[in-house]
Amino acid sequence: MSDQSNAPLPAEIKTVGVIGAGQMGSGIAHVCALSGFHVVLQDLGQEQLDKAIDGIQRNLDRQAKRGKISEADKDATMARISTVTEMSGFGDCELVIEAATENEEIKRSIFQKLCPLLKPEALVCTNTSSISVTRLAAVTDRPARFMGMHFMNPVPVMQLVELIRGIATDEKTFAAIRALTVRLGKQPVAAEDFPAFIVNRILLPMINEAVYTLYEGVGSVEAIDTAMKLGANHPMGPLELADFIGLDTCLAVMHVLHDGLADTKYRPCPLLVKYVEAGWVGRKAGRGFYDYSGETPVPTR
Ligand code: NAD
Repeated sequence: MSDQSNAPLPAEIKTVGVIGAGQMGSGIAHVCALSGFHVVLQDLGQEQLDKAIDGIQRNLDRQAKRGKISEADKDATMARISTVTEMSGFGDCELVIEAATENEEIKRSIFQKLCPLLKPEALVCTNTSSISVTRLAAVTDRPARFMGMHFMNPVPVMQLVELIRGIATDEKTFAAIRALTVRLGKQPVAAEDFPAFIVNRILLPMINEAVYTLYEGVGSVEAIDTAMKLGANHPMGPLELADFIGLDTCLAVMHVLHDGLADTKYRPCPLLVKYVEAGWVGRKAGRGFYDYSGETPVPTR
C-alpha cells in the first residue's frame, strides 16, 4: 500500500462509514446520522445490520417521546443511514470509524482490506477500548490520518469521547476529529496512547476487582452491586456495568492492560475468563452476572 498520509484533508466530512453494527457501531451511526451526516453502516451479516437498525429506531423513538428530538428528525435520521455487508460501500466516505469486536487481529485485517477502497483524503478512526492506536495505524496506508475516537456506551446518552493520537497522527487530523466530536454534541478529552487510555485504565481494574470479590465469596452479585451503588454513589454496580459493556470486551481490555503494562495487578479474574468461555458475555447474550431472560434482570450468583 502506498502512503496516503500526505493527501490533503477532506474539504468537508459529509459521509461517515461505521464498521461493526454491534452496541457501539449502532450508537455511533445513530449520533452521526442525527447530527446530519450520511452514514454507511457495515457488518458481516444482514441479520446483525437489521438488529442494529431496529435498535436505532427504538432509541430514536425513545428520544422523540422524551421531546429531545422531533418526529421529523427521527425520520430524517433513519433516511441518512444505509447498511452494507461489504466494505465496497466505503468509497464515498470522508471518515470511517471502526467499531468491530475488540480483537487486534480482526481490526488489523479490517484496516488492510479497507484502506485500498478509500479516497486518498479519507480519515480513519478506531473506537478500540484498549488496543494501541499506533500499532493499528501502522497497518494502514495513512498513519498520519488515523487516530482513536473512543465513544462511551450507550453512545446517544454518554457525553465523553476520548481522542487518542497515535505517534504518527498529524495535528490537522486531530483538529478535524475534535471539531467533528463537538459537532456530534460530545465532549472531547485527549488521552495518550497507553493501554486502555484513561477511562478503561481506571474503570476496568475496578470491574475486574469486583469479579474477584465475587470469586472469593466476599459478597453476592446483589451485595457487590448494592454496596458500590449506595456506598460509593456509583449509578450502576460494577457487575451490572460489566454485563452492559460485554464480558468479552472487559476480558479483552484486561488482557491488553496485563500484556501492555506487564503488571500482575491487571491479571484477569479466572471467573471472568470462565464466563466468557461459557458464552455468558452479559446483556447482549441474555446472560452474564445477571440473567436477562425475564422481565427484570436476576442475579446468577
Ligand atoms: P459488539 O460485540 O456489540 O459488536 C461488535 C460487532 O463487530 C459485531 O456486530 C460483529 O459482527 C462485528 N464484526 C466483527 N468482525 C467484523 C468484521 N471483520 N467486519 C465488520 N464487522 C465485524 O461489541 P461492541 O461493544 O459494539 O464493541 C465494539 C468496539 O467498541 C470494540 O472495539 C470495543 O472495545 C469498543 N467499545 C466498547 C464499549 C462497550 O461498552 N461495549 C465502549 C467503548 C468502546
